[in-house]
Amino acid sequence: MTLPLIIRAEEHSEKIAIATTDGSFTYRDLLHTSSQIATTLLQNREDLQEERVAFLIPPGFEYVATQWGIWRAGGIAVPLCISHPRPELEYVITNCGASIIVVHPNFEGIVRSRSVFAGESLAEALNLRFILTSETLPSNVTQLPKVDITRRALILYTSGTTGKPKGVVTTHQNMQAQVTSLITAWEWGSNDCILHILPLHHIHGIINVLTCALWAGAECHLLSFDTETVWRRICDGDLTLFMAVPTIYVKLIAAWENASRERQKTMSEGCAKMRLMVSGSAALPIQVLEKWQSISGHFLLERYGMTEIGMALSNPLHGERLGGYVGKPLPEVEVRLVDEKGELVPTGTPGEIQVKGAGVFLEYWQNPEATTKAFQDGWFCTGDTAVIENTNYRILGRMSVDIIKTGGYKVSALEIEEVLRSHPDIQECAVVGVTDIEWGERVCAALVLQGLQPLTLESFRSWAKERLAVYKVPTKILIVEELPRNAMGKVTKPTVVELFRL
Ligand code: AMP
Repeated sequence: MTLPLIIRAEEHSEKIAIATTDGSFTYRDLLHTSSQIATTLLQNREDLQEERVAFLIPPGFEYVATQWGIWRAGGIAVPLCISHPRPELEYVITNCGASIIVVHPNFEGIVRSRSVFAGESLAEALNLRFILTSETLPSNVTQLPKVDITRRALILYTSGTTGKPKGVVTTHQNMQAQVTSLITAWEWGSNDCILHILPLHHIHGIINVLTCALWAGAECHLLSFDTETVWRRICDGDLTLFMAVPTIYVKLIAAWENASRERQKTMSEGCAKMRLMVSGSAALPIQVLEKWQSISGHFLLERYGMTEIGMALSNPLHGERLGGYVGKPLPEVEVRLVDEKGELVPTGTPGEIQVKGAGVFLEYWQNPEATTKAFQDGWFCTGDTAVIENTNYRILGRMSVDIIKTGGYKVSALEIEEVLRSHPDIQECAVVGVTDIEWGERVCAALVLQGLQPLTLESFRSWAKERLAVYKVPTKILIVEELPRNAMGKVTKPTVVELFRL
């Protein structure tokens, strides 16, 4: 069967699908180029049969055409983060067992340079078929396979409590359920035009913005984030939708405050032309919500979701939105709150959020143990706690202190600690998230040093950036004689957090 996303695109073929700094591309362009990419990937085979295809491509038409090309060839798309250093890329590529990597020429160096792997490049060491997006595409398109929607489509890597990120596998059917739920709730239509500035290796950017837009036959304007560009595009007055994480709204507010009176007026008018502005992926502070409302006239619609489940809770498109709340379950999503014993809690009592529905992921990639542990009686256990007040859900936080949500990214304290412990001057460390208005939580590290060498934040950070994605690198460090521990010898993280508040 032809994927429903493709069938829908055929209905909008003359409309603009993607607009970038390189120009505008119609749905017809997207269908054609993705079929050429699928042909290249297939190399005379009939079906990739769920082979993993990793791709390292900046936001733009090539990213989308490659993602669709992988799906149309029957492969599983594994988007790589363009800001990740080599060790993180290597982890994802190895863990998913990719057989092909598609790379934009800007990133050829990181995948092809030979220095790190004992004379071998990343592609050689991992025995990958290497395809550059600049290669000429075939003029004859092959017969593409029929891909059933129950097949695996996407693997996104997300941090867990066990250290290394896990690959979250979603099927075409899961994605379809995630997308159609949002299309219904937020009334996406083919007249919509969205500015897309979110990372394209994360659910928020891939599902909520890109795939919803393309499913609806809307226009998706892809740009890399910077405050000036975003404000310029908002001032153009042609956008109907905008979605971002709280950190981005904080940056946009700062830029608005620094603008001239006249410019501020144009900026606010641009916002007023939109029909909906959404915030999510981390808690939206009330001060940010209120400030944004005074600037834009929009009471941000806050929603809650997760890589494993898509979106689960949302304030309403029409009707009253409550600040500090994430609303009610989205269409076709079931949500419940349970206590430690797994029993339903009464209204007004906090409990763990559990979710059921067709949008819930299939499995953690090649990790049946983690998959089994993540479910209770068919419900996915999110690890987040919430309470229902006045029929609306309020998120109270994560159950594990070791999951930090910073700038909309979920990171594992344990994963960062593992890397920091490999620093020659670090004997012990504890990584924590400290509440911060701009970042939601700021990644901070308490360090016990060995020897007497001083360690500056600058040298520490430049060392860490070689090994960790920049958003995982602690922005504050504290050198301590010893880490606070409980009677069992376990580091007491709440006490570590307090150290950063002193
Ligand atoms: P990710 O899988 O990276 O999208 O991260 C999902 C996590 O982000 C959830 O488990 C929550 O901890 C957090 N999160 C998402 N949306 C919200 C929200 N509106 N308020 C508070 N936390 C949120």
